[in-house]
Amino acid sequence: MLTNERYAGDVLSRKTCTLDFRTHKTVVNRGHKPQYYIEDHHEGIVSKEDYERVQEILGDNKSEFNRGDYEKTPFTSRVICTHCGKNFHRFGKNLEQTMWRCSSNKKSELLCEADPIEEAQMENLLKEGFEKRYNINQRTNDGLLIKQLTKELSNAEAVREREQNLLRVELEKCLIAENKAILQNLDTEDLKEKRQEIEKEIAVKSKLWEDFDRDYEFREASLNRLKELKGSDKAINKILDISFMRAWVIHIKVESPFLFSIKWIDGKETVVGKFKGGYHDGRK
Ligand SMILES: [Zn+2]
Repeated sequence: MLTNERYAGDVLSRKTCTLDFRTHKTVVNRGHKPQYYIEDHHEGIVSKEDYERVQEILGDNKSEFNRGDYEKTPFTSRVICTHCGKNFHRFGKNLEQTMWRCSSNKKSELLCEADPIEEAQMENLLKEGFEKRYNINQRTNDGLLIKQLTKELSNAEAVREREQNLLRVELEKCLIAENKAILQNLDTEDLKEKRQEIEKEIAVKSKLWEDFDRDYEFREASLNRLKELKGSDKAINKILDISFMRAWVIHIKVESPFLFSIKWIDGKETVVGKFKGGYHDGRK
């Protein structure tokens, strides 16, 4: 039986990473290729019953039934609370306003004091960020915006791969130098420090790469919608909705319901909204 859920005894039947023996490069399965687990393939370290009980206690069971009104939307798993680092979750589908709330805060206000946010506000701030990043309101109708957006999405995977390869090469160089220094009985402190820095950077980037790889479908959909505009930059306002813009978003960090920092797929960041008493960029 195939399932998307997994526990320790399940076997990942299609590896997320394989080594290409011709090029010696790691080939990453970027989410768009099917991944699934074969249930009960061999006996897990923890019994399945125990595992499920623990998941239930932790409240980490991702099924819709257990998460109440949990629903996957373009914002799911990508809106992060800057105060505690946890994700914002959607709730109150049947209330007048759909709201998002920090998951720690939802458990207890003692864990995190982050205020809830209206979904409409999240949409507004993302739109503001996207418009700011691309100067959308100052565009003439020369088609350059559509060209730029199309290029960014088409090249995004190559850019991401290049970034990963560069860091890997840097790490390898460092390791070789460190080994050499050890053999020559030289001081390795500096080299070790440098290597640890690279390793730390790789660890931070890995999370971003992982999220990027999961968003293949958003990028494909947005590329298709860009084609429909037939080169008219002005027409972009018609398609500027959340799932379209989501193709460029890695995550959104929530400082307050009025102040977001949006991390884009090229690593750049845009701050949008306002501090208490004024806009962050000096606007009145
Ligand atoms: Zn929080």
